Amino acid sequence: MTQKQPANAHRLAIGDFTLTTLMDGQFEAGLDVLLNIDEARARQLHDASRRPAPARISLSAYLLDTGTQKILIDAGFGPLGGGAGGLLADSLADAGVKPADIDTVLITHVHPDHIGGLIDDNDQPTLPNATILVPAGEMDFWSGEAPNEGLEEHFQAAARVFKAVGSQMQRLEGDEVLPGVTRVPLPGHTPDHSGYRIRSANEQVLIWTDIVHMPQIQFPNPDAGIGFDVDPDQARETRKQIMAELAESREMVAGHHLDFPGVGYVVEDGEGYRFLPHVWQPTA
Ligand SMILES: [Zn+2]
Ligand SMILES: [Zn+2]
Repeated sequence: MTQKQPANAHRLAIGDFTLTTLMDGQFEAGLDVLLNIDEARARQLHDASRRPAPARISLSAYLLDTGTQKILIDAGFGPLGGGAGGLLADSLADAGVKPADIDTVLITHVHPDHIGGLIDDNDQPTLPNATILVPAGEMDFWSGEAPNEGLEEHFQAAARVFKAVGSQMQRLEGDEVLPGVTRVPLPGHTPDHSGYRIRSANEQVLIWTDIVHMPQIQFPNPDAGIGFDVDPDQARETRKQIMAELAESREMVAGHHLDFPGVGYVVEDGEGYRFLPHVWQPTA
């Protein structure tokens, strides 16, 4: 039985730009990975969502084509997913883009499911012509010593990728990134966890990256965090603040762990929120 859908890429026009969601895969995660939520409540929300058990977390990367640049926003798991994910190269091919065509990679944060695809199974760079921009605070934190044992594995993954692609990496200072692209600091999940806002011709979208991992739980209950939040309290405050802002502004949001193709809107719903997926269009 085939494990791959025929199209794992989804195009969306943002003004004169094209934002393509690239499926990297899914990984299983038990509900016990959640923080700040009663286990029975989490199970109830999960059951109500009609999703399979055990729960799965979707993983995508995004490709922004500005007409002059091809910018990849994160790179999926690559060889670091232990069998999960790693479909980015196939999804890029589905989108008609060669790895050598990518000139810039914007990293949102240094977690294995976002940086692993920068290397192949032999620790060779996968994107030979790309400059890889890494938020300065992420570079500093993940280049240092792990502050506790729980973070060892993620630090080792970071070191492995930094070693392989270090010569392509540049520190990203400040928030003006590229024409039409600004960085939006969303700290907590990791110290310099960064979203990117894309604007072209009066249209815009905020890529909020790891604000939500389990939509079925964290939209109705935005207090709920995930076990790999580096600072769970700060992550919670950031999540609640950005959800409130987006519900108010009606801005489109995209997220690496929202269900493919991971673009839509945040709307208020009772005590929490609901995610309204963007309605699929036959043309970008
Ligand atoms: Zn993460
Ligand atoms: Zn992630």
